Amino acid sequence: MPLLVMKFGGTSVGDLDRIKNAAQKVKREVERGYDVIVIVSAMSGKTNELVGWVEQTSPLFDAREYDAVVSSGENVTAGLMALTLQEMDIPARSWQGWQVPLKTTSAHSAARIESIPRDNLDAKFGEGMRVAVIAGFQGISPEGRITTLGRGGSDTTAVAFAAAFDAERCDIYTDVDGVYTTDPRISDKARKLDRIAFEEMLELASLGAKVLQTRSVELAMRYKVKLRVLSSFEDTDENSGTLVCDEEDIVEQNVVSGVAYQRDEAKMTLISVADRPGIAAAIFGPLAEAGVNVDMIVQNISEDGRTDMTFSCPVNQVARASEALTKAKDAGSINFHELVADTDVAKVSVVGIGMRSHAGVASQMFEALSRENINIRVITTSEIKISVLIDRKYMELAVQALHDTFGLEKA
Ligand code: ASP
Ligand code: MG
Repeated sequence: MPLLVMKFGGTSVGDLDRIKNAAQKVKREVERGYDVIVIVSAMSGKTNELVGWVEQTSPLFDAREYDAVVSSGENVTAGLMALTLQEMDIPARSWQGWQVPLKTTSAHSAARIESIPRDNLDAKFGEGMRVAVIAGFQGISPEGRITTLGRGGSDTTAVAFAAAFDAERCDIYTDVDGVYTTDPRISDKARKLDRIAFEEMLELASLGAKVLQTRSVELAMRYKVKLRVLSSFEDTDENSGTLVCDEEDIVEQNVVSGVAYQRDEAKMTLISVADRPGIAAAIFGPLAEAGVNVDMIVQNISEDGRTDMTFSCPVNQVARASEALTKAKDAGSINFHELVADTDVAKVSVVGIGMRSHAGVASQMFEALSRENINIRVITTSEIKISVLIDRKYMELAVQALHDTFGLEKA
């Protein structure tokens, strides 16, 4: 039988009625003749609550126990979804990650999927089971401990199952009806995209359009999984939502497809470091070891053999970054006069595969920001995106201005 993967996010299983609503959508696909693998998130807010409990109990928590606690939200929804489907006379069974088993690395709280053996599920489908409900976000390490895949990880669970089971499609049901040109909460001109290329989605996902976990898009791109984002609160059909697909499958392509933002960024500057070979390695090595996600990097021109080095990272990693750099300074591997953290910045980016073949996007972007009197603090570019760091209080304004400038409200 053809097989579909259907993933329901936290708001789509936020209470018993919503689980019933999601189960109706599953039932419809079963009636159409599909076997279905359903991936569920925890009820909305649950994972945050669990993370909070862990942090309150043990600020420097043991990551294995973090995973033991935080993975539990999905177990509840998986069981409830299976029961709901059974109440609708659909042969359904729930599976926790270790039961499949979904095998991962032992990088607790950020584990990577290694393999998903099909035997167990295939055997059950062979015996007449029509729906396997899988607790998303979790797996089992080689040591036999429960792992989790990082926040938002059940998207990645879904894509991995779709790849492992050759699913016809992987439908990601969520609380929005697709991927938008920007966040509709920021611009009322935001428009839903019918299609978006894997690469663009990858940039938008990693840039803070929180629709899909970045890794799920990477995985979908690698295994060419047809990925669709759609609403669980609307009547949907084959054409609903946004299809994330190959570049070649997109007929009409704008130069810029979307404007993304990351609100909670920080800019850190090491003032007056010795400008010598190896200095960047001596700075960013310890930051990497401390698990700081460094994003943009700027090294200023040097004077008298000294230079300033600026980088950005998430605001909640500033303490960790400061500690790592201060330690390196105390150990004598780097030397700076001062470490300055600006915790009031945000990142705004424009993304589009059309940029590869069109010049002038950067200047258009900078002009638009200049018209709004927004000062740019740091700029980075790649083949298909341009990002700027600006004062956080101008973030919304910048997103709206750029959305207008690139004409994204028009189809
Ligand atoms: N419940 C987990 C989280 O909130 C995983 C997920 O929903 O994707 O991060
Ligand atoms: Mg999510």
